[in-house]
Amino acid sequence: MAVKISCEFFPPRTEAGVEKLQLVQQKLNEVMQPEYYSVTFGAGGSTRDSTLEIVKLLVKEEINVAPHISCVGSSKQQLNDLLIEYKNLGVTRLVTLRGDIPDTGETTKELSHANELVSFIRETTGNHFTLEVAAYPEYHPESTSPQSDFECFVNKVNAGADGAITQYFYNIDAYDRFIDNCLRENISIPVTPGIMPITNYRNLSRFSDTCGAEIPRWIRKQLEAYADDKASLQAFGLDVVSRLSNQLLERGAPGLHFYTLNQAEASNAIWKNLSL
Ligand code: FAD
Repeated sequence: MAVKISCEFFPPRTEAGVEKLQLVQQKLNEVMQPEYYSVTFGAGGSTRDSTLEIVKLLVKEEINVAPHISCVGSSKQQLNDLLIEYKNLGVTRLVTLRGDIPDTGETTKELSHANELVSFIRETTGNHFTLEVAAYPEYHPESTSPQSDFECFVNKVNAGADGAITQYFYNIDAYDRFIDNCLRENISIPVTPGIMPITNYRNLSRFSDTCGAEIPRWIRKQLEAYADDKASLQAFGLDVVSRLSNQLLERGAPGLHFYTLNQAEASNAIWKNLSL
């Protein structure tokens, strides 16, 4: 089975950032030719316009793009308008999320969870879009129990998700367990591991605390020990994440989704280390 690679971008805030992103996309394409590029949707829909602008730019370049869409800060009307816009652009895949709650805590409350958004998209656009949803091998930070978290995932599948992309993780056993749970529930949609390159300990640590991804002690300690020795830290990070990625593919993962953070080097380096 061919390994499917996808790469995630966030919408840059400046013109210079947009130009840089185009170069990054070219570099990624030269090396790994991803099946598609996804573009995030800021917390509470805060980047609705800039996400759409980047999507338009990529579509214009005939690049296969999957916008992220989240329901937490958007009305049904706004979501419907966006879906029509994406349909008219020829977009056929979406990453469908509840979304991060904005710092203001403001939500629209029309659609509260990702399964409701999946149902809404199916009701309004039928099977036009291939829908990816989020999966959490180490559990979503707000979940009340592992079991209820998995039940919420099952609800998204039952609502019509075609595939899932996981939050990043460095404990491969958590992914194995998630896949075992899927098999037990007869869930056969592909669950693609999200791959977070390790290049900067401080940022990774902060982000992991928020999203509930664990940095195992042996990795954390080594990253801390490297402190400002950036070269050693990045070499270690590359080795750890390349091994993880290879092990995932050996175990039958359907592909890899790179959280590129709008950089090409780290993701490309991991890809070059894969025994494809
Ligand atoms: P849900 O599946 O709705 O789950 C959210 C929480 O609610 C979980 O704890 C779940 O257990 C619980 N839950 C679900 N349904 C119910 C229910 N009916 N009743 C009670 N509890 C329930 N965030 C963004 O803002 N923009 C992005 O572009 C973005 N892209 C992402 C891409 C990927 C691949 C991943 C893994 C995450 C992404 N996120 C993004 C983060 C994501 O939005 C957050 O993790 C968010 O907090 C949850 O979104 P969800 O779609 O998983 O929500």
